[in-house]
Amino acid sequence: MSKVFAYDATYRNAQATVDQIFADLGVDLTGKRTLIKPNALSEREPEQGANTHPALLKAIVVAAEKAGASEVMVADNPGQANYGVIQDLFDTNGLGEAAGDSLRNFGINLVPRELPSLPDETLYFPQLLFDADYVINVPKLKVHPGTGLTAAIKNTFGYLAGAQKAHLHVIARDRRHFEMILADVFALRRPDLNIVDAILAAEGRAKLGTNLRYLGKILASESAAAVDVLGATILGLDPTNLYHLTYVAEREGVPLDASKLQIAGEWAPAPDIALPMGFNPGETRPEAAASPSLVESASRKILALSEDECDSCAACVAECPTGGLSMEGEYPALNQELCVSCFACMEACAQGAMELDPIHPA
Ligand code: SF4
Ligand code: SF4
Repeated sequence: MSKVFAYDATYRNAQATVDQIFADLGVDLTGKRTLIKPNALSEREPEQGANTHPALLKAIVVAAEKAGASEVMVADNPGQANYGVIQDLFDTNGLGEAAGDSLRNFGINLVPRELPSLPDETLYFPQLLFDADYVINVPKLKVHPGTGLTAAIKNTFGYLAGAQKAHLHVIARDRRHFEMILADVFALRRPDLNIVDAILAAEGRAKLGTNLRYLGKILASESAAAVDVLGATILGLDPTNLYHLTYVAEREGVPLDASKLQIAGEWAPAPDIALPMGFNPGETRPEAAASPSLVESASRKILALSEDECDSCAACVAECPTGGLSMEGEYPALNQELCVSCFACMEACAQGAMELDPIHPA
């Protein structure tokens, strides 16, 4: 079983922590083409906590170079962004500056692959992913209204180029199927090392994007499933309720109980983290209804817009995979018939203006 390391950390001392991770795990990259995959979800500023923090990314780039990598490459496919806008996004969120000359475009030179969970679909992934000798996965620790957790396994969904992610949200039969697809994408190129930015984590019951919690931790492991079990437990999530995590953990023989993991370093569950509807003790997640909509799902999740907080940027409309949102006048309007509860719009909203309607608690 893979050991998990929990470090006390700040963004200011990120380099010392990453150097310690490389020492503790004996990372030797001599002659290896090394790919670093952050979570570069949006163009938001580092303080907004949506992305892997640039200070951590920079520290990993430096450590990989010191560890002898023949080439260090930083790449991600953020949201629905295609190859043409990836550079712009990295330019605005600070991750491009942190990557420096190591930044690569993950949206070009794509090669076809099929997944066991989607035998009739051909998906396209960057050749770069398969050319890399060593992959370092650098997610941000966040809750998520659809999957419960965004951490090491879910961060690999960014292997997929452009709008394919949106397509999969639409064609998945139900939530379990969607999360089996996540597990299969992960398995295409299992990361060699996972370093989780849990210094500033994102929480939220009804909205995403503005609720941050300082945890002061960096988690690391060669096992994405093991580090996700620990990350979920710190956030107060039940790992057995996170489908994508259960699928990968079962394949890899990782226990879903943090007390059964081999953990080095201090950790404890953070108190009173705001969890999404359906993920709190006593709540049940919507199950197998086909593409459960926000209106029809068992937990009655309905999107609501705070016009006071909305700046009419239309980022949510651009991210919606189904055309379920459109600008009507100054504000986005939801067509509930088209919504498949992927929550991409909530993740895209830098203002935290999109939330689950609190008058319909789970
Ligand atoms: S409205 Fe939001 S949650 Fe619904 S499909 Fe569009 S992006 Fe996904
Ligand atoms: S809800 Fe958020 S993402 Fe959508 S237009 Fe308003 S501010 Fe932009």
